[in-house]
Amino acid sequence: MSQEQIIVQKFGGSSIADPIRIREVASRICRSRLAGANLVIVVSAMGNTTDDLIRLAGETAGADGAPNLREVDTLLSTGELVSATLMAIAIQSMGQDVVSLSGTQAGIRTESTHGSARISAVDPARLRRELDAGRILIVAGFQGVTEMGDVTTLGRGGSDTTAVAVAAALGAERCEIYTDVDGIYTSDPRLVPEARKLAEIGYEEMLEMAMLGAKMNPRSIELGAVYSVPMLVASSFADAPGTLIHGGEPTLEVRRAITGIPVDRNVAKITVRGVKDRPGVAAALFEPLADAGISVDVIVQNASADGLTDMTFTVARADVQRALAVARDRSEVESSEVTGDPDMAKVSVVGTGMQNSPGYAARMFRALASAGVNIEMITTSEIRITCIVRRDQAQAAAQALHAAFKLDKAAD
Ligand code: ASP
Ligand code: MG
Repeated sequence: MSQEQIIVQKFGGSSIADPIRIREVASRICRSRLAGANLVIVVSAMGNTTDDLIRLAGETAGADGAPNLREVDTLLSTGELVSATLMAIAIQSMGQDVVSLSGTQAGIRTESTHGSARISAVDPARLRRELDAGRILIVAGFQGVTEMGDVTTLGRGGSDTTAVAVAAALGAERCEIYTDVDGIYTSDPRLVPEARKLAEIGYEEMLEMAMLGAKMNPRSIELGAVYSVPMLVASSFADAPGTLIHGGEPTLEVRRAITGIPVDRNVAKITVRGVKDRPGVAAALFEPLADAGISVDVIVQNASADGLTDMTFTVARADVQRALAVARDRSEVESSEVTGDPDMAKVSVVGTGMQNSPGYAARMFRALASAGVNIEMITTSEIRITCIVRRDQAQAAAQALHAAFKLDKAAD
């Protein structure tokens, strides 16, 4: 039995939201087992359990008490314990040998930052023993344990990370992520009806797509890339093929320059006007933002006139009020005015094929111009060009780019 290949399968909260769905997933797991695979199943909490627990902690702490992070982590970890044990109960009722394990029991060791702990190691001894005994393993996702024996959680959406870490530690053949979407698309199908499902995508490109809106936890993809774990993203509801994320040469699709057009419509822009153009100003502005846990994305500083300059940067829409408050509070920055605009969007073209080949930015800007879309800010990486546009123009922008780069047609 231990000679056979190991497959890790992760099921997200919406796939196991109630007992009926848990039983559906359980029978799917039993079918895979009967086909011969050694299975390690990682589960998230059922439905919106994590949100409900966070709310419960807040309400219990009262209006001016912040709940203690250690207690919150142990509380949140119970969501995944409920789903893991119920999944084991369902599989048992179908006659298969199965055992559920908490993160602690599964050997998931983490650093001690409660609420967003990083996995420091996975001790696979118990996992291996159970697999050798021929059992299906159900591991509670999103959680681990510190050196001191305290339970931690890995940050929202952290079950993907658990799944990839376990796959890496066991040398699994593949990590399959089952979710409510059936794969990774060339763009958001709600905005671009012509968007196509990709058969495969590289880690680097997926990381750009994940950070820009496709629903995957970026940390899990980073981990997959570091340990070369092939990851399959597929639907837990349908038997459709899904998208394979891997590091090898593209096999199924002919290499194409542009892979996808991710869109993020939850972007806000902050403009700080009339700041002195001298060393230390950017640090004085961005350090307190970082300290407040606000992540800043695109930053543009204008050429200075008369020793004064404007700085514009973007943050997530949900952070705009906090970011404004922090920026207005910086007396060292001595700006004449700080304004915020919550109605922005980020539209990008992503593809490894544009490395070392000029002309993609020009094509992108021309396509946006033809669609009447105004570009407010621009930023690039080796494999991505991003434009900040107004939110109400995001759809027109995405459609224009999708057509201009011929993503609606299979590669030829
Ligand atoms: N249940 C956790 C969350 O909602 C972890 C996960 O879903 O992966 O964030
Ligand atoms: Mg969840």
